Amino acid sequence: MIWKPIQKDPESYSKRPNLLDYAKTAAAFSWETVRSELDGLPGGGGLNIAHEAVDRHADGGLWDHVALQWLCSDGTSRAFTYGELKKQTSRFANVLDGLGIGKGDTVCALAGRIPELYIAALGTLKNTSVFCPLFSAFGPEPIYQRLSKGDAKILLTTHGYYRRKVEQLMDRLPLLKHVLLVDVADHPDNGLLSLPKLMAAASDTYVIPPTDPEDIALLHFTSGTTGMPKGALHAHNAVLTHYLTGRYVMDFHPDDVFWCTADPGWVTGTSYGIISPLLHGITNVVDEADFDAGRWCDILAKRKVSVWYTAPTAIRRLMRMGIEPARAYDLHHLRVIHSVGEPLNPEAVVWGVKAMGMPIHDNWWQTETGGIMIANFPAMEIRPGSMGRPLPGIESAIVRRVAKDAVKVIEAPDVQGELALRPGWPSMFRGYLHDEARYRKCFVGGWYLTGDLAKRDADGYFWFVGRADDIIKTAGHMVGPFEVESTLMEHPAVAEAGVVGKPDPLMGEVVKAFVTLKPGFAPGDALRLEIIGFARKKLGSAVAPKEIEFTPDLPKNKAGKIMRRLLKARELGLPEGDLSTLEDSR
Ligand code: AMP
Repeated sequence: MIWKPIQKDPESYSKRPNLLDYAKTAAAFSWETVRSELDGLPGGGGLNIAHEAVDRHADGGLWDHVALQWLCSDGTSRAFTYGELKKQTSRFANVLDGLGIGKGDTVCALAGRIPELYIAALGTLKNTSVFCPLFSAFGPEPIYQRLSKGDAKILLTTHGYYRRKVEQLMDRLPLLKHVLLVDVADHPDNGLLSLPKLMAAASDTYVIPPTDPEDIALLHFTSGTTGMPKGALHAHNAVLTHYLTGRYVMDFHPDDVFWCTADPGWVTGTSYGIISPLLHGITNVVDEADFDAGRWCDILAKRKVSVWYTAPTAIRRLMRMGIEPARAYDLHHLRVIHSVGEPLNPEAVVWGVKAMGMPIHDNWWQTETGGIMIANFPAMEIRPGSMGRPLPGIESAIVRRVAKDAVKVIEAPDVQGELALRPGWPSMFRGYLHDEARYRKCFVGGWYLTGDLAKRDADGYFWFVGRADDIIKTAGHMVGPFEVESTLMEHPAVAEAGVVGKPDPLMGEVVKAFVTLKPGFAPGDALRLEIIGFARKKLGSAVAPKEIEFTPDLPKNKAGKIMRRLLKARELGLPEGDLSTLEDSR
């Protein structure tokens, strides 16, 4: 089916879009101009994300303006003004100072969407240490991998998460200096610390130390197809991309109320769930609760959300429920809806027009890019099913590898290849922690290769085709098959495991494992459930397989590596492709 482009009349907007003339803006673009719109630290002390997001607004006339509108899952809410956020984040920065934490030290947070996490993120940036969020639905194993690989010195968490997920790991984490509990009033006896107690004793003023734009600010773990998670490092200079995309993609205007539904355990929830809206001095809604269609529509209406950033899985859930929020709720404040993280079906874009009163704007980026790179900008024609066009300042292309160290740009439109970006944008990752070789491998022939397959049409719109590797995207969350396979193989009955993403109409993909058993174990439902339970306990619900299929053997290449590509093709009933490398092919 060919989807008709959706052209909106800019005159119909309640607010004039910030990016009206794409071609002109892109041609005149310079990152220096973007930098000149930010403050920089007083006295030429450099560039610090938290200063730009919080202090400059608190000191610049927005002291009483609501920065964070936090909605608790019990139905209550709490507003934090820019003034209060300045004080609280300063307290947290002082707490870190007091614990001997400073430039370059890793501060991890394992918590739901609670105010302490937001305060800690920004306070860590003030202190010039490195903030690293961990998804709270992870089980102990993924948490251990990230804490140890990230050299975490501080972990902020709740008492419950500590008991269930962290306590058992403490002996294996010699670098972890302190665990700060957000929900205990006094320091427990066992060396843990009460964050409220530390915060109460800390000063609410803080002078941000000089911060070089290249100082590392954020550490985001992402999954690869081989090996354990990779820690992508981002510098304070990323703030330029966060600011620019807030302006051109999100289309932030003063007095906007923004809601990003992503969890800060993932990069979207940090770059856009914390930083970008605050850079623009607007109100950022944070909902502690998980998806609930009625609650979400209520939030959009009652909190007068004007810009909404969500994900295809959530949109598909709303679609399936057959509800049309625009009919039942007062959504007249809502100006623009964005989506990211996985392909947004054309049907969903068109559904938006009918059910939400406006189309949904898809955009594309990844942990390594630090911010949005390709987008359907609000004033631009939307091509349903397309990710949009590159952000001004970003050069992107479709390339084909022609040698180990060379690629060729595919100039012809509508030809599939790998999506590539010209290195050098401010939020480009600066490395994979402790893995320089892996970082270098991402750059070939003057391009950063994203690992995504895509096409570009004659008008410069990019269309997502799929991943070039075996990475799984389930409900928008990236899962590395190797991490899951390794855990499954710890089960006494499992000989080998091959893990793939099985397409799913709601979640995009679900994690499916093919498992061979050790001698003496027989396949059966009881064993299947036991292995799923085992994996959930270790990996957490977000990562563990939803399905297990027992198989007498797994396809391997001649080097003995499990061919996940083949497992997936067999699962989908697709042609198996080139089998010349298969172990038992002759
Ligand atoms: P992450 O690093 O976890 O944010 O995941 C990044 C990956 O998600 C990309 O490399 C894509 O494979 C996928 N992705 C992100 N946005 C989109 C989109 N708009 N359409 C299709 N895939 C997307």
